[in-house]
This record gives sequence, structure tokens and C-alpha cells, in this order.
Amino acid sequence: MPPAACLRCGNRAVIKRPKNHHKLCKECFLSVFEDEVHHTITSSKLFHPGERVAIGASGGKDSTVLASVMKTLNERHNYGLDLVLLSVDEGIKGYRDDSLETVKRNAVQYEMPLQIVGYDELYGWTMDQVVETIGKKGNCTYCGVFRRQALDRGAKMLSIRHVITGHNADDVAETVLMNLLRGDLPRLSRSTSIITGSSSSEVKRSKPLKYAYEKEIVLYAHHKKLDYFSTECIYSPEAFRGTARTLIKSLEKVRPSAILDIVRSGEDMARLTPDKGQDACGCDEDEAIGGCGSANGRTSGSELAQMEARLKVKQRSTELETEISANGTSADDGSVKLPIRGGRRQKEKPVGPLQTLGQCIKCGYMSSQEMCQACTLLESLNKNRPEVSI
Ligand SMILES: [Zn+2]
Ligand SMILES: [Zn+2]
Repeated sequence: MPPAACLRCGNRAVIKRPKNHHKLCKECFLSVFEDEVHHTITSSKLFHPGERVAIGASGGKDSTVLASVMKTLNERHNYGLDLVLLSVDEGIKGYRDDSLETVKRNAVQYEMPLQIVGYDELYGWTMDQVVETIGKKGNCTYCGVFRRQALDRGAKMLSIRHVITGHNADDVAETVLMNLLRGDLPRLSRSTSIITGSSSSEVKRSKPLKYAYEKEIVLYAHHKKLDYFSTECIYSPEAFRGTARTLIKSLEKVRPSAILDIVRSGEDMARLTPDKGQDACGCDEDEAIGGCGSANGRTSGSELAQMEARLKVKQRSTELETEISANGTSADDGSVKLPIRGGRRQKEKPVGPLQTLGQCIKCGYMSSQEMCQACTLLESLNKNRPEVSI
């Protein structure tokens, strides 16, 4: 079989894009991937020149690719952004301490300052201690609530009001599907928006990789030879999310565009859903779980882990990669530019006067309840603390 030619430049193609099965050479793949993220950023007016932006960095592939692409685009297109890495140390031995080493190397490689905030110092609990107390079940809920607040607080320590995270199209599609299955349209609508500014936080969140396929993120990291940490969180994710993930991977096999189709459908449904105001409870725990540095909790036997392993083996890598990305039939939909749906108003700033937003009576964190979610969880935890010696 003669080698396939790159769709863009005619050179030898080594990659079949998981997203649309276009055959590309390495250079064209990297540049198309970057162009698409750039398009996402500009068409949704994500940043303004001079803005200080914190990249939520876990050391995993998503946030490492995000940091690398942001550095590239910031320089190439003169965004004028001041980029900082922000990491949360959940206190998970053998997982987070190792991945933080990766983030520290990334900080040097990308010449970005790094700030680390620990659950330990913020809450007086590490995740290892939480799991010791409540067991493995449901611990992701704690971790998600704690992480969200930790990122906010870390950003505030740095006087930064915008945090970007490595959520990809697969994560968004999972969340859409989960909320659809739960019949929770308001949350579905919030989860699809690229900026998830919350009324309970002064810090804006956004996800520039929202339209990037997870498999392409792995390919990008591989071909750019990025230094990332691929072991997953040792505490398993919520079962329901795992089921949604499996379902999406199956759909992707028969219809590669399924992931983007679900994201777009979510966006369309969001436009039809009455705006309930942004996230009054400030929880969005799905979101937080998606942001878990666990490579989003993939199980090690997953297709993705196999793909990463195969990429690592990498002798005769050119043939391999073309083969790796192949699944199902070729859907030649030709479109490379990503459609960003217009017409969605983004709230630049948290809604002020309409909503009565107080502060948590315990910690002072912005909250629509008397006590913020983290403090509520902490209170029940502290009741169960085995023995406190002060
Ligand atoms: Zn090419
Ligand atoms: Zn609180």
C-alpha cells in the first residue's frame, strides 16, 4: 500500500486524525491542532491583552498540552497574556506528589511561574486522610468541591481573575450526557459554556480545549514530546461518569464526529434552556471532577491507555499512528474550522445586585449559602475525625 499523502502539504502522512480521519503529516497535524485552539480562543473572545491567566496544571496530558499550546499561541499571535501555572496538591501519596514533580519541570520548560496550593494548608485535610475517614466511595465529591475552591484561592493569592483548565471535548460530552440522563437541563447548559464564571466566585473559569478530542491531545503531546505524567488518580471516579465515558467511546467508534456532535447538541440545548443565572450553588461538581488531574480517571485498561502505551513503543511509529487513530468508517466531513455557536452572551463579571451573595460564615469564601460547600463537607469530616491531638 503506498503511503498516504498529507491532505494539506502532500508530504507523507503519519497521522489519521481521530476527529475526522483526515490524513496529515506531523507538522500539519500540530499546526492544525494549534490553529483550532486559536480559533476557539478568538471566536469566543476568551482573553484580553495584558490579562494575567492561571493555567490549572496537574501534570497530566490535558493541562500539559494546554500550557504548551497557550505558550505557543501567546507568542505566535501576540495575545499579550501573562501566563502562570497553578497546581493543587490534594495530598495523595504516590500520585500527586509525583505529578507535581512533572509540573515543576513544566514550569522550567515553559518559563512560567508556578504556584502550588495544598488541601492540607487550606482545609487541614489531605485527600488520603479524607479517604481514610469516609472510605473510597464518594471521595471524588469532596475532592471536586475542594479543588474548585483551591484553584480560586490560589488564583486570588496571585491576584489573578481567570483560570483556564484542560477540559477537552470528551469531558464536555460526558458531562452533557450525564446531565441529559439526569434530566438536569440547567446544569447541562452551564456545562457546555466555554466560560463558566460562577456567581459564587470572583474568578472566571474557561476551557480553551473544549473542542479538542482527547485522542488528539494524546497525539499532540506525543509528537511535541511533551513531558507529562500519565498515571491516574488512585481514587476511582464516580461510577455514573465512568458509564457515560464508556458510552461515548463506543459511539466514537462508529461515528468519529459523535463527541463534537454531543458538545454541539449540548450548546443548542443550552440556548433553549432558560438562563437560571450562573450556577447559584457554586458547585458544578461534575466540572470539578472532570478537572481531576487523574487523566480524568481513565482506567488503566482503557483504549486510551493502550493508545498511549503503543505510542510510547514507537518503533516504526509512522505506520503505527495511522493505524492507532483508525476506527470505524471514514467520515469525511471536510470541516476543519470549529463552529463556535454565536449568540451566547457571556457574563464577563459575576452577577452582582440581582443575586444576594454573602460570604461563608466560616471561611469568608463567597457563597450563596450561609456556609460554603467546602465548609459544609469539612464540618461533617471533622465530626468523624478519629482523634485529634492538638
Ligand atoms: Zn502536511
Ligand atoms: Zn466556607
